Amino acid sequence: MGRNLDPKCRQCRRAGEKLFLKGQRCMSPQCAMVKRNYPPGLHGPKGSRRRATDYGTQLNEKQKAKRQYNILEKQFKIIFEKARQQAGNTGDNFLVLLEMRLDNAIYRLGFADSRAQARQLVNHGHFTVNEKKTNIPSYLLKSGDVIKIKPNKSKAKIFLALPESLKRKETPSWLNIDQKALSGKVLHKPDISLLQPNFNVQMVIEYYSR
Ligand code: SF4
Repeated sequence: MGRNLDPKCRQCRRAGEKLFLKGQRCMSPQCAMVKRNYPPGLHGPKGSRRRATDYGTQLNEKQKAKRQYNILEKQFKIIFEKARQQAGNTGDNFLVLLEMRLDNAIYRLGFADSRAQARQLVNHGHFTVNEKKTNIPSYLLKSGDVIKIKPNKSKAKIFLALPESLKRKETPSWLNIDQKALSGKVLHKPDISLLQPNFNVQMVIEYYSR
């Protein structure tokens, strides 16, 4: 399985904004966008961002979206094509397909600090969907699905701080969390008006429509 080996903070510095790829560290003064808010490369702080062409801007928005959801290009394009083939607004369909991936829902529920961590936990078989072990991060959830940390994994070191961290976590309205049972239910599809992605979906559509 492919992986993006580009260091995460470098991806933010290239995008020129925080993409929140490293959980708690992204909120701390240790964030590379706080300490070194300039593009990575040989020129250091003197390196400037080139003025982007239309194509460059569309590419940048697509890269931002792809990196935030921690998805490689081939898979990302497949999701986009699926969204395009569905009835309705392609941009809305695309966002819903991205949000309803299992790894994303686990991140949104607060069971993982970042989407990358969520993906790893799913790969390692820490979760069930509707009581069945599911180790496919791209698994597409539907309304009514119940995601649960496997009981024999709930005492794992990585989940020890969950009772405290979940208290601070705001769960999106399309998910319902049971903090005691360490489970979450998909109530319905995400409400597009509440998603507020920090990339321009229209530009992603334009990029893939070239
Ligand atoms: Fe990006 Fe987080 Fe690294 Fe900051 S700490 S640069 S937000 S990945």
